[in-house]
Amino acid sequence: MDYLSTRNNKIKLSFLDILFQGLSKDGGLFLPHSWPKINLEDLKGKNYQEIAEYVIQPFVSKKISNLELKNILKKTYEGFDTSDVASLININKNQFILELFHGPTFAFKDYALQFLGNLFSHCLKNSQKKITVLGATSGDTGSAAIEAFKGKENVKVFILHPYGRVSAVQRKQMTTILDENINNIAVKGTFDDCQKIVKELFLDEELNSKTSLTAVNSINWARLIAQVVYYFWTFIKLDYQTVNFIVPSGNFGNIFSARIAKYMGLPINMLHVVTNENDILHRTIRDNAMKLNQVIETHSPSMDIQISSNFERQIFESSGRDSHYVNKFMSEFYKNQHESLSSKIMEDIQKNYKSHSVDNKETLESIKFFYKKYNYLADPHTATGLYVLNKLNSNEPNVSLACAHPAKFEDAIEKAIQKKPNMPHELKKVFDKEEKMIILDNDSNTIKSHIYKII
Ligand SMILES: *Cc1c(COP(=O)(O)O)cnc(C)c1O
Repeated sequence: MDYLSTRNNKIKLSFLDILFQGLSKDGGLFLPHSWPKINLEDLKGKNYQEIAEYVIQPFVSKKISNLELKNILKKTYEGFDTSDVASLININKNQFILELFHGPTFAFKDYALQFLGNLFSHCLKNSQKKITVLGATSGDTGSAAIEAFKGKENVKVFILHPYGRVSAVQRKQMTTILDENINNIAVKGTFDDCQKIVKELFLDEELNSKTSLTAVNSINWARLIAQVVYYFWTFIKLDYQTVNFIVPSGNFGNIFSARIAKYMGLPINMLHVVTNENDILHRTIRDNAMKLNQVIETHSPSMDIQISSNFERQIFESSGRDSHYVNKFMSEFYKNQHESLSSKIMEDIQKNYKSHSVDNKETLESIKFFYKKYNYLADPHTATGLYVLNKLNSNEPNVSLACAHPAKFEDAIEKAIQKKPNMPHELKKVFDKEEKMIILDNDSNTIKSHIYKII
């Protein structure tokens, strides 16, 4: 399998080339030259790990053997607290919740990052290479990445989070990991500022000459392929019915993984993109108005995003893989902070996606509603999806993704139901631990100097 960039569809890179690179040198994102097709019959009777082996294999073929992949995946799912790895709950008639918070940091990011951590270790083992993992987090990616890479040899980790804008649990999950290779940086800015700094540093030649910079945010291709797995798994659990998914979205990584599953042959009818009040995806998909606004703080901080990086992958696909178009579109968008897509692209997008924006008030209502009616306690991100699930009128199974454990977002839960969620023991522990982080200005040079001091 060869890979191209959304900004240059002529290049041919291998999986190992793109694994550590994250962003392409031309500023684009990597995609495979073609979509492997899955024979759905072959999935019958397979457990979660076996489905993962089958679905991921074509993307790493010739670079990682079946046996190696099997070992990587075995380690990946060891830290999950259910033998199913993901839990599908039938809450009412054709309404389902897919719980993706059974990994070590209680958010769906573990599926991708536990995989990445073990994949990197495997690939570094036989080389002299040392890497520097650099990432921005709006909360959950950071802890998942730190958990996945702590103590790993030949890997240094720098995670930027927006100072004061992640929940206390989220912060402590990151800053109480004291392993020497872990560095937490709180940036005085928003998540988009953090993401912008990370993007700038990845294109910085000086820094790149000193170390192998590696991306672990959701632009990293390997993360997406690990997320594709649970969409196939759900389909098997539902006994091969055509399905709709409802995905609380920020960076468009999770829902694009569903779209990948559909490109590979999974019978998905509609993909429902759900945003909070930071609704650029909603305005783009419904009104073709991709316009940057200020980031607003909401009850669902991991969705407080204006630039959804992975959406570029969808634009590229929907344009008929026209990297010329993507280059022009993205540079106009960054220049004017506002751009419209061609009617051909909009048609393809609207055929596959419906979008929704759920505000703070509706989010809390949704938490309360599902708690009272079904005794189901959802975290605020999950609750945006459940709000849509509750309103959908369709005969197919509708599966809404539960992206994080409610205990990670105590304040919002308490606002919604006037009591605190129960804390799993593993989360409670972080409150007694020592924290380690540095607070820095919202400026890429400041961050760069700090990284130089440590690597
Ligand atoms: C990351 C995250 C999201 C958004 O997912 P994207 O892949 O960025 O669209 C939603 N909810 C939670 C809890 C998250 O951690």
